[in-house]
Amino acid sequence: MIDYHLHLWPHGQRDIDPTIEQLAEYVDKAKAEGVVELAITEHLFRFGQAVGPLGRYFRRFPDSPMRNLMEDYWYEHSRADLDAYVEVAVAAKKAGLPVVVGLEVDYYQGEMDTVAELLKGYPFDVLLGSVHWIDDCPFDHVGDPFIEAWWDSYGVERAWDNYTRALGELANSGAVDVLAHPDLVKVTSHFPRVPEEYYDRMAEAARDSGIVAEVSSAGWRKPVGEPYPAPYLLKKFNQYGVEVTTASDAHRLGEVSMRVSELRGYLSEAGYTSLATFRDRSKRRLVIAGEG
Ligand SMILES: [Zn+2]
Ligand SMILES: [Zn+2]
Repeated sequence: MIDYHLHLWPHGQRDIDPTIEQLAEYVDKAKAEGVVELAITEHLFRFGQAVGPLGRYFRRFPDSPMRNLMEDYWYEHSRADLDAYVEVAVAAKKAGLPVVVGLEVDYYQGEMDTVAELLKGYPFDVLLGSVHWIDDCPFDHVGDPFIEAWWDSYGVERAWDNYTRALGELANSGAVDVLAHPDLVKVTSHFPRVPEEYYDRMAEAARDSGIVAEVSSAGWRKPVGEPYPAPYLLKKFNQYGVEVTTASDAHRLGEVSMRVSELRGYLSEAGYTSLATFRDRSKRRLVIAGEG
C-alpha cells in the first residue's frame, strides 16, 4: 500500500522546521503499517510564499465574522517556508527514503492558474487538490458550534451541490493530480436526501478530467465513520476507470498510515487491483492484487 497524504504539522502548531529525521520517523511508522511509499503533502496555505498571490482570496466574500476568521486563520498559519520544506523532502528522497514530494492545495475558485504559476518552479512529484470550503465556510471543522449553525442556515442540499460543483471545477482545472478525500462534504454526517445524485456527479467529473482519486482512512477517525470515498462512489470510480491512491491524511506521527492496510479489502470489494503513484507529476501504476 501507499500513503499519499501526510502532514508534518498539526493545525495550530507553527514555525517548526521540517527535518529528514522527522521524515525518517514517518517512513518507519508507515512501514510498520504495511506501507511502501509515502507522499509528503503539507497544506499550501501553511507557507509564506502563498500569502502574496492568494492571501486576499476571502475578500471576495461579503464582510462577515466567518470571512474575517478565515483570513485571520490564514495569516496565523502561513509562517513556514516552502523552499525549506521542498529541500528537506528532496533530500530525504535523495537519501533513499521512499518518499515523494507533494503538497495539498485548496480549491481557489478562479485562481487555479495563480496556484499553477506559484508552484511551477518546484520539483513536485504529486499535487493533491482539496475542497475544504463552501464559499467562505470551513465546513469540515468537526465539533464547532459555529459550523453546526452554518449547516442549518446554509442547507444540506445547497452545501452538497456547491461542494460537488467546486470539486468538478478543481478536477477540470488541471492544476492538481489527485482529488483528496473526494466526498469530504459528508465528514460531519450531514447527508442530503439522495447522496448518490451527488456521487454520480463527482464520479463523472473525475472520469471526464482524467484525475486520480484518493481513498482515505481518515474518514474512520471522523463523525461519519467511513473512508473517503463512500462505497457507492468508489465503485462508480472503478466503473469509470478512475485510478486511485491510498492515504491516511495524518497530521502527526501517531496517525501516519493508520488503518491504511484496512483499505485493501475496501478497494478489492470495489474491483481495484492497482494504485496510482507519481514521479514528477506523471502517473505510474503499482499492482496491489496479491501483494503481501
Ligand atoms: Zn484535506
Ligand atoms: Zn490533508
